[in-house]
Amino acid sequence: MGIKTIVEDNIDILVVGAGLGGTGAAYEARYWGRNKKIIIAEKANINRSGAVAQGLYAINCYMGTRFGENNPEDHVRYARMDLMGLVREDLLFDMARHVDSAVHKFEEWGLPLMKDPKREAIGAYMREGRWQIMIHGESYKPIVAEAATKQADKVYNRIMVTHLLMDDKKKNRVAGAVGFNVRTGNYHVFKSKTTIVGAGGASNIFKPRSVGEGMGRVWYAPWSSGSAYGLLIEAGAKMTQMENRIVLARFKDGYGPVGAYFLHLKTYTQNGYGNEYESKWFPALSKMVGKEYLDTEGQHLSHKPIPTCLRNHAFISEVNAGRGPIHMVTMEAFKDPHLEEVGWENFLGMTVGQAVLWAATDVDPKYENPELTTSEPYVMGSHATGCGAWCSGPEDISPDEYFWGYNRMTTVDGLFGAGDTVGGTPHAFSSGSFTEGRLAAKAACKYIDDGKAEGIVVSNKQIAERKEQIYKPLENYTIGRNEITAGTVSPSYILPMSGLQRLQKIMDEYCGGVTVSYVTNDKLLNIGLKKLSILEEDLEHIGAEDLHQLMRGWELRHRHRTSECVTQHTLFRKETRWPGYYYRGDAMKLDDKNWHVLTVSHRNRITGKYTLEKAPCYHLVGEEDEK
Ligand code: AMP
Repeated sequence: MGIKTIVEDNIDILVVGAGLGGTGAAYEARYWGRNKKIIIAEKANINRSGAVAQGLYAINCYMGTRFGENNPEDHVRYARMDLMGLVREDLLFDMARHVDSAVHKFEEWGLPLMKDPKREAIGAYMREGRWQIMIHGESYKPIVAEAATKQADKVYNRIMVTHLLMDDKKKNRVAGAVGFNVRTGNYHVFKSKTTIVGAGGASNIFKPRSVGEGMGRVWYAPWSSGSAYGLLIEAGAKMTQMENRIVLARFKDGYGPVGAYFLHLKTYTQNGYGNEYESKWFPALSKMVGKEYLDTEGQHLSHKPIPTCLRNHAFISEVNAGRGPIHMVTMEAFKDPHLEEVGWENFLGMTVGQAVLWAATDVDPKYENPELTTSEPYVMGSHATGCGAWCSGPEDISPDEYFWGYNRMTTVDGLFGAGDTVGGTPHAFSSGSFTEGRLAAKAACKYIDDGKAEGIVVSNKQIAERKEQIYKPLENYTIGRNEITAGTVSPSYILPMSGLQRLQKIMDEYCGGVTVSYVTNDKLLNIGLKKLSILEEDLEHIGAEDLHQLMRGWELRHRHRTSECVTQHTLFRKETRWPGYYYRGDAMKLDDKNWHVLTVSHRNRITGKYTLEKAPCYHLVGEEDEK
């Protein structure tokens, strides 16, 4: 195969990954950087990439300030409570104060937002819940992609970015990225003054419940390979809250979302015997996490939503007590033909697989209450969890420890994040991720205009070494294949799928996956770390049969690096902060005295050693005015 090297030079803003975060970045970069060169590198095709690829039926983060609904402060309080106290309030507030304008743009670009007939006079949107508005969003991504494409100088589709480039002159400064075209095989070098990573979080690092032919059916996008973290950790960026993996309550096997059902259709859950179970688990749980987060005697249950992880805890405990499966009671709501229609449309607009699965397995939610399950854990930063990079906040509200000059810049100079990449900012969802991209791009333009990106040097040596490294799996396969006559097991190489399954087994058994009911401890985590480091040695010998497998190989590397960081963080935080997401069996209580902090890790780029520290968790928004 003749591999061509294609160099795109003198880029000002390189956007790596064009999901909602990346598209927001490219769009906004043009506003602040009229004459700047803006380039997008996307693994799939921008029109159907990222977590919103197959559409959404709701925008889960919309304040509605213009309709007198919520203020940004309200959203910070909500996300803080949902995450058991630990969020980056500066970043969250900053996103929340700008998110509505992003949503209004989506409408302007043609996304149909449903209107509330009862508030027609003021043009208010149809609410699904307090924060969520309902949309006809099958084409959400192509609509947003068009706006970003128009502003970029060029969109490179089908480019798997494998590594970030570093400045060879100034330490700790980014210089662009490299990768390959998954169709042509060409080697792509992007030399850039700033890089905004909007790549995906990580699905498929914990063994999924779906196996065999169903393996690709997971909650988050299966193509979200942890590149948001793998790329950054390798470049030496500090990470935060990586232990905060998320477990989702979902319709069984199709992973259909529950938000519209709970919030809009007002369905509820019951155990296999038709009984309410949640409240039974809450008194004991309240002792574990403290009354601040779950006050079963006081006001809490009546006026605040129960944190997502605690609802999971009741679910998991009830199933473990032998009273599963848990059902969603749909039969009452589905008697209303309008609600029945909404229930089905909800899936047809964003999780068509769930509708197909129900049809194929003869489940009609009008006549039977479908099963729910809790998913395997995912590592991401925009749903009810806040994994990601330790980023600078905005200059007007961030305390000193949270601010180093440029909004959403990681601890590597010139390297910015958006969406799943940014840590400590849960509940951003699609609209919040797009907003974060906009904020990052504005700051990146300022960084360039301030002269911070002058004099970057990328040696030919760095470019050549990366090239050799990237294509090595093809060579491993070509040579190693001669040693076997048939089959997939070779003495000289390991296939990406085998490596992935080994990774998933380690994470599942040692880091708190489904087969151990989400429980781990220091002993298990230490063994897990040892196994991950041995796996890393073997990953040098990945064999890739073709370009598709080469991509799978590099996705695996990103997933592995993410997993290692998650395990390190989980070991560091000696408490159970989010029961229902994971449990430290050796520290089964929430410990606000010692652990009301954010965790921050740094991996040394040369030695591979991790350093972990506690960072203060500042509460910038007060409790008063609570609605
Ligand atoms: P989902 O459809 O589960 O991804 O959730 C969509 C939105 O609804 C998110 O903002 C969730 O946090 C929220 N949500 C889902 N279930 C509940 C629930 N039982 N109570 C409150 N909020 C929920």
